[in-house]
Amino acid sequence: MTFLDRHLGPRPDEIETMLADLGRDSLDALIDAAVPGSVRRADELTLPGLEEPLDETAALARIRELAAKNTVRAQMIGQGYHETVTPAVLRRNILENPAWYTSYTPYQAEISQGRLEALLNFQNAMMDLTGLDIANASMLDEATSAAEAVLLMHRANRKVKRGVAVLDARLLPQTLQITRGRLDALGLEHRTVDFAAGQSLPEEPVFGVLLTQIGSEGQLIDVAPLIAAAKEAGAMATVACDPLALTLLASPGSLGADAAVGSSQRFGVPLFFGGPHAAFLAVRKGLERSLPGRLVGVSTDSSGRPAYRLALQTREQHIRREKATSNICTAQALLAIVAGAYAVYHGPQGLRRIAEDVHVKAAYLAAGLGAAGLEPVHADFFDTVTVRVPGRADAVLAAAERAGINLRRIDADTLGISVGEPHTWAQLDDVLAAFDAAPDGQPGAGFGREIPAPLARRDEYLTHPVFHRHRSETAMMRYLRELSDKDLALDRTMIPLGSCTMKLNAAAEMEPISWPEFAGIHPLAPAEQTAGWLELIEDLERWLSAITGYAGVSLQPNAGSQGEYAGLLAIRGYHRDRGEEGRDVVLIPASAHGTNAASAALAGLRVVAVATAEDGSILLDDLDAKIGKHREELAGIMITYPSTHGVFEEDVAEVCARVHAAGGQVYLDGANLNALVGLGAPGAFGGDVSHLNLHKTFCIPHGGGGPGVGPLAVAEQLLPYLPGDAAAAGAGHDAAASDSSRTAAGRAQAVSQALFGSAGVLPISWMYIAMMGAQGLREATRTAILNANWLARKLDPLFPVLYTGSGGLVAHECILDLRPLTEASGITAEDVCKRLMDYGFHAPTLAFPVPGTLMVEPTESEDLAELTRFVDAMSAIHAEMTAVAEGRVPAAESALRRAPHTAEALLGADWDRPYTREQAAYPLPALRTGKYWPPVGRIDGTAGDRNLVCECPPISAFDIDAHDDAAQSAAAQED
Ligand SMILES: *Cc1c(COP(=O)(O)O)cnc(C)c1O
Repeated sequence: MTFLDRHLGPRPDEIETMLADLGRDSLDALIDAAVPGSVRRADELTLPGLEEPLDETAALARIRELAAKNTVRAQMIGQGYHETVTPAVLRRNILENPAWYTSYTPYQAEISQGRLEALLNFQNAMMDLTGLDIANASMLDEATSAAEAVLLMHRANRKVKRGVAVLDARLLPQTLQITRGRLDALGLEHRTVDFAAGQSLPEEPVFGVLLTQIGSEGQLIDVAPLIAAAKEAGAMATVACDPLALTLLASPGSLGADAAVGSSQRFGVPLFFGGPHAAFLAVRKGLERSLPGRLVGVSTDSSGRPAYRLALQTREQHIRREKATSNICTAQALLAIVAGAYAVYHGPQGLRRIAEDVHVKAAYLAAGLGAAGLEPVHADFFDTVTVRVPGRADAVLAAAERAGINLRRIDADTLGISVGEPHTWAQLDDVLAAFDAAPDGQPGAGFGREIPAPLARRDEYLTHPVFHRHRSETAMMRYLRELSDKDLALDRTMIPLGSCTMKLNAAAEMEPISWPEFAGIHPLAPAEQTAGWLELIEDLERWLSAITGYAGVSLQPNAGSQGEYAGLLAIRGYHRDRGEEGRDVVLIPASAHGTNAASAALAGLRVVAVATAEDGSILLDDLDAKIGKHREELAGIMITYPSTHGVFEEDVAEVCARVHAAGGQVYLDGANLNALVGLGAPGAFGGDVSHLNLHKTFCIPHGGGGPGVGPLAVAEQLLPYLPGDAAAAGAGHDAAASDSSRTAAGRAQAVSQALFGSAGVLPISWMYIAMMGAQGLREATRTAILNANWLARKLDPLFPVLYTGSGGLVAHECILDLRPLTEASGITAEDVCKRLMDYGFHAPTLAFPVPGTLMVEPTESEDLAELTRFVDAMSAIHAEMTAVAEGRVPAAESALRRAPHTAEALLGADWDRPYTREQAAYPLPALRTGKYWPPVGRIDGTAGDRNLVCECPPISAFDIDAHDDAAQSAAAQED
């Protein structure tokens, strides 16, 4: 069998059956009827350098060759990335376990209790370590987290509305770059202040100060007086910090900071050539409603027990659009889960031991260097020593490299050495030898570099029992299994989420990401050590260019939303350089994905909505009206194709032409490319720029809410505006990587801190494309369209399909209209989502883009049996709703409203509901032999928002005895 045969769900005979059901003679006939000629490629897709698809074995062999072109060194470069040991129990049971990596963002909380608890552990760990009250469930990287914190201070500071931001010159270079870029895009002013040189806050009003507890050269900084000065001036203060160092250093919260940011990478997450890594953002009480990103909170379920769900910001962009607090949608959930589990496994003592170890080792280096007359530049440090070796930096660097060690080159006279968890005493001796220095004392001895008293930590952290209970590997393994057993991921059921494309994440695609030759590479390693990475990236860039029909691609954006932001900045840059700075209006249809409007706002653009017609397509009349009104200020339009209504609009080329005629650029949101790959190319039918979501169309798993990769693809005229390298401007970066003509990296403002963003997961998409080949990709698209149309046809008699395109067909997804039956029965689309859990299904997309509907996307990976199982479930639910609509069952007492049903609820002594226990648990016979049991009943979301709790609840809260009373009184009320 070819890989394609494994990737596709339906077998050839099933395809015949489905085509017959659709009344089509062949797949060709169906596709010709569904996909308008105006968007079809004129040519056959070909992929440069890939004549034929590779089978699994050949593809793994080929990617092994690429891996072998990378050189693994002991990475002592630091600068925001540190070597860490991923405990094997976490690698095997989380990173390499489909129960974790194939799960979706936990919007459906009842089937996501495991990952929500794991994310809550992460939040709790970051809150404790930073000494602040609330931390979110991950940011995309440290630099963008810092930028978001500055924007948060701008929103939240009521005293100083119109001031400037102050940035400490000692911040990491990439943090400075990204933060300045984000502020510039919004026209907010900033000053970089060299506090070390005695400079102080400027005289003008300051709304926020971004400080760092550890300087770029590793120096410890007493931020307390700087925070006090900021407060004095009416400014808020954010502190960048290192969570491992915080086991030894006073927490930002205890020093008066309003917010803290940083990366949790060194909590067990590999370097991954720059990402994905989970950053954090923690704030003091009172700021939680301004917090960007996702936040897990504790609420209660229908039995009164604690249960977790996303709080406050859930689907924030979809509701608030350009007024959202950020454009973050996909974050870094899987990596946050690993970091949280690392804290659970090591506990406070273990983390402190690791921190002391790297600190003592750094001190050992400092002592040896000092004895050789190379006294470190900064006397107080945690894990990083900076040394001046006038004129000798390159020679020392080369000597260290010969010993298998990478150091950081700050300039021709200065080097940095950062010690990480796996580094050995022998490696440190090699480092000393590279400097012509020798140890000054015995390894392991106490080296007297105490943390200065005012900087040292005194309070406790990680006191919750969860950080103390799982010390043995057996206990940890079982804890992870217990959590993942609570969740529904792709390893148990289809996840038919419209707009999210939850398709197969093949094992062979996943395997290479944990190979040390990929995972162990520092993003700032010298280019000759990363040749394999660069070749893989170049392959992907060229393949994605061919697929999209654009001139160039950047893989830097680490989520779709970041791709949008980068693409909109490109449009702005293009107009600016043509002397048309005033073009700052972007047209966005009302039905667009919420991140579109949020990204436009962050890029400093004004959003004007375009109306859509009855059938969901853009209203050309309204388009003309809006273009007419904003002709001089028109930057462009942002549309999704196929539309968020799941149809191929015939008019898209016309829409593009009208916008071009008015001088605007066309942004085609390519997150729905699963309906186009191999059939049509956005760059060929009118787009100037698109982002793709590799975590949708190109098989990177969703990870419970990230990681993602949102590549930006652009036409020729926008090539100069592809994002550049945030670290290149900083001292010490070997610019060779970014100068490489072999990648399309541009010179414009970077959007992610690492040049290649979440590089670590790119091998997944590389493997997918290599194993599918051009023909295979096209076949996947055709099968996705077939599956969607078959489902639409089967479900339409029950729940009308809201929008169809040419020939009454849909694209790769369909919107089911539940509103008529909701009106008749009172049973909502949300009730249906909850009831689907009893049937063992993850719900489709709820209420987007149309309230009261469900959007279903089966993808090409589901076979006829699974599609049929879904149709059967929806038919049974339809019958249950009809019973309510006909007055046979009161809505409030129905199995739909009281879903999902836990085993505990069904096995209680009394049963007085108007349906049987069997109807509740086994509404279809097949469930008797394969049943997923929801771990909690319906969760009360609003109660949790009113009383926000975002830390691990006391273990006693789960005590059954303690809750019997509550459960009984709750039941009594419902009866
Ligand atoms: C998923 C999606 C996005 C956002 O992508 P993220 O990676 O979650 O930021 C944008 N547009 C559309 C149409 C999408 O489906």
